[in-house]
Amino acid sequence: MNRTLGKVSIVGAGPGDPELITIKALRRIEQADVILYDRLVSEELLQYARPDARRIYCGKSPGLHHMSQQAIHRTLLQYASAGQHVVRLKGGDPLVFGRGGEEALFLQERGIDYEFIPGVTAAIGAAAGADIPLTHRGIATSFACVTASRAQPESGSDTGMIDTAGNAVRWDLLAQSVDTLAIYMGVSQLQQICSELVRYGRPSVTPVAVIENGTTSVQRVLTGTLEDIARIAGAAQLGNPALIIVGEVVRIREQLQQIQQQARTMIG
Ligand code: SAH
Repeated sequence: MNRTLGKVSIVGAGPGDPELITIKALRRIEQADVILYDRLVSEELLQYARPDARRIYCGKSPGLHHMSQQAIHRTLLQYASAGQHVVRLKGGDPLVFGRGGEEALFLQERGIDYEFIPGVTAAIGAAAGADIPLTHRGIATSFACVTASRAQPESGSDTGMIDTAGNAVRWDLLAQSVDTLAIYMGVSQLQQICSELVRYGRPSVTPVAVIENGTTSVQRVLTGTLEDIARIAGAAQLGNPALIIVGEVVRIREQLQQIQQQARTMIG
């Protein structure tokens, strides 16, 4: 058999602001024959693709899967086997709640070359967009990225919060062992998450921020505490994509804003 195999670049597009992509990722987009992109990828980035590049939308909004993971795998394989350079473009980083590892395993098992190109993950992007340092000297020495995504409930069972492969999220351990929690895919379960954290010992006055559409021109940031943030976010009808940040570091945002305001009053 004498066919040339293509390759799949599994690429992070960054958190929302198209300028937050890496140069390497942008170069791959410019070179690609085929681009499979997700819902959270900024459409602006596709302008950099060759005019003749094939663009395939893979969708995936919560609860509504446009293209199944198997169909994505098959499509990657199909084009790469035909010798094409495929870019699999994902929001944020492809290896943080991005299924990039699964895609690489699938391709590797079939002898297809792949590479990973990292991206700025939502926790990093949204935190910066909201003026919240994830670590801060004297306040936070650790942070964790956590998914609150719940598996499709199995008939009749209420298993609490489990990730999409059925692993339980250990709120009991996370509540007190990590200073800052960056929680992905959690906005629809905000009340439950806050209650779990308080139940396992996090003070109910712990500050919380929820950042919707972080780093984009329509970013919204709401702040509160474990006690009242769910009500505040509900009243503001906060939707997806949104990232929850729990921890004392959220106060730094408030401090920065206060200083800004004071400076403005002094100038004004
Ligand atoms: N691989 C992605 C995460 C995919 S999971 C990454 O590394 O960022 C999708 C979740 O990411 C969303 O439900 C939301 O919690 C978070 N997210 C993605 N983009 C976001 C944004 N611009 N602002 C806030 N949260 C975002």
